[in-house]
Amino acid sequence: MNYVVKKGDTVSLVAYHHQIRPFDLMLLNPSIRFEYDYLPVGKNLLLPKQARFIKNISLDNDLLCEYGANQLEQDRLRLEELGIKASVIGFSVLGQPLYAWVIGTGKKTCLYSGGWHANEWHTSKFLSRFMMSYVEKQQAKEQWYGFDLTELFKRVQLHVIPMVNPDGIELVLQGLYEGHPYEHQVKDINQGITRFNHWSANIRGVDLNHQWPAGWAQEAKGSPHQPWPRHYGGPHPLSEPEAMAVYEYTKQIQPDYVLAYHSQGQVIYWGYRGMEPAESEEMVQRLCQASSYTAIRTAESDAGFKDWFIKDTHKPGFTIEVGSGVNPLPPQSFSEIWTNNARMGLVGLTL
Ligand SMILES: [Zn+2]
Repeated sequence: MNYVVKKGDTVSLVAYHHQIRPFDLMLLNPSIRFEYDYLPVGKNLLLPKQARFIKNISLDNDLLCEYGANQLEQDRLRLEELGIKASVIGFSVLGQPLYAWVIGTGKKTCLYSGGWHANEWHTSKFLSRFMMSYVEKQQAKEQWYGFDLTELFKRVQLHVIPMVNPDGIELVLQGLYEGHPYEHQVKDINQGITRFNHWSANIRGVDLNHQWPAGWAQEAKGSPHQPWPRHYGGPHPLSEPEAMAVYEYTKQIQPDYVLAYHSQGQVIYWGYRGMEPAESEEMVQRLCQASSYTAIRTAESDAGFKDWFIKDTHKPGFTIEVGSGVNPLPPQSFSEIWTNNARMGLVGLTL
């Protein structure tokens, strides 16, 4: 059986929709070397004649699925059915909408964000699934890890931007295809390499967490000086529409504190050059207790989103590094990420 790759397909998705294991897809198609390899649009794949492992795959279990803009779109519709509508806070370089959700009506305002780096799509998946469970369980009047969710909804206004970098995430999941609007630019930036596992920037080679007005010039000195798969801070702070959208939104909602999700390391950074408020230390201890992650005061780097937030507002900001291994973490990592972070996400609402 043959299958022609469509836009948006990934190894996990094709396997999932045909009820086969990614492993079997790889066996039949040796050009796919890793489960998280990208599939160029139009590529011909061989599929096993018969789905062999149907019993192991349930349609409700998407643990093994990668997560890109298409999956976020499906989750957006599901959340809308639950009565929670997204707002569009801006557009990516390629014109994809950047979504934010608001859940709860409380006075305390928290902002969770993820999907900053292209090869860190697990954080987007986590945040979407976290929102979904939070809303579903509240509506069913269920408790979650002992938390009274209705009470939390009343006390806290949770803002979530799950995918800051949809263009980059799609590049890592899918690679370049003929007619991609940035085909030549991306090829140049990537020096002709046709894999994108190491790519963390947005589609024009700017690192969205390296371009915030907090020691930007200092950070730029030790980083690439031109568009690059990672760590290039852009021609000036906030040069990219994705970073600007988050900047404007954060200014508008004035959160009491922020959690920014990245992978990997299973650590939580909580300081920035001694500018963080005193309460940050106690808060990070609570996050660590809920997750078994390790607190680290500072990464000795500048120009990140939480660095800017701490510097500008003198309020607490945290960078949560989920998972461990090499990015992009394999789909299986999601089970550890979910276990450690669902509870931490709730504790994060009560700091
Ligand atoms: Zn990151």
